[in-house]
Amino acid sequence: MSDDPVTRFKAPVRLDYTVTAGSVTADFLREILKGRLVGRRCPDCRCVYLPPRSACPTCGVITTEQIEVGPNGTVTTFSVIRFPFEGQVLEPPYACAHVLVDGTDTPLLHIVGNCDVDDMRMGMRVRAVWAEELKPTLASVRYFEPNGEPDVTYDSFSGHV
Ligand SMILES: [Zn+2]
Repeated sequence: MSDDPVTRFKAPVRLDYTVTAGSVTADFLREILKGRLVGRRCPDCRCVYLPPRSACPTCGVITTEQIEVGPNGTVTTFSVIRFPFEGQVLEPPYACAHVLVDGTDTPLLHIVGNCDVDDMRMGMRVRAVWAEELKPTLASVRYFEPNGEPDVTYDSFSGHV
């Protein structure tokens, strides 16, 4: 038996639970099932939120207008995951990015695939790649991948990072 102090141990925990989506999220997920990304627009400042918000956090008014957006977007910032961790779905290295989907004003946190992580860059144009079987979850967009369009300048998205 070692005299070394115990500094770490595994304690597997499992918790099954059900989340009831609100009406705005439910609308969003129904559109995901159709292979469509649909945000919500603020009637005052005209900002489009994706995922949609029930109210604009800037204006404090209810968002009612649904807007189909994408499927293309721009990487506004990213992080490369190089280390494995428990529960990880993808094998490192891979990139997580804020993608400003065309037609929206708020970046969406997602994964960028089909791209060498060393080729990742801000301003890179990407498109959504959908799963073969769509489910009511944002994971139905498997990842975003480079779409071949030229990069855009930082100034074109810097107000939405
Ligand atoms: Zn607003």
